[in-house]
This record gives sequence, C-alpha cells and structure tokens, in this order.
Amino acid sequence: MNFANNCDECKRLSASYEAATMDWFRLQGQLRIATLSNDPGASDRMVAELSGIAQRREQLRQSAEAHLAAAHPRRAAAGSPLS
Ligand SMILES: [Zn+2]
Repeated sequence: MNFANNCDECKRLSASYEAATMDWFRLQGQLRIATLSNDPGASDRMVAELSGIAQRREQLRQSAEAHLAAAHPRRAAAGSPLS
C-alpha cells in the first residue's frame, strides 16, 4: 500500500491495517499451539477469529484503495501493477 506520510487518514488506515496484520500473526501462532495440543475447541474458535480478521483486513485494504484513489490519485496510480 502506497500511503502518504503527511495524511491523517493514511496514518489511520495504515495503523489499523498493521494492527489487523499483527492480530493475524498472533492468532496464527495460537492456532498452531492449539492444533499441537490437540484442542479442537480452541482451534475452531481461532479459525473463526482468523476469518473475522481476514474480513477486517480486506475491508481496510478496500478503504485504503478507495482513499488513495480519491485523495492521492498519483500515488494510487504509482502503486498499481499496470503503471
Ligand atoms: Zn491519505
């Protein structure tokens, strides 16, 4: 993602996205431990939580793309694989 350093909305979006990514890695680790300790109840809960976090990250990514396109069109174009 091609965030602008001097834009509050970019800061907010990138911080939220990073937080969701950290949650994702933290839960992946917990899921591995639950799987290794043969705890299917905990594994199921974490799989459900992981899919919630995946949705949150996807929504944040879409918000970020929409914001970049609206507020920083040149930045959004520079980040596109087609340019
Ligand atoms: Zn911005």
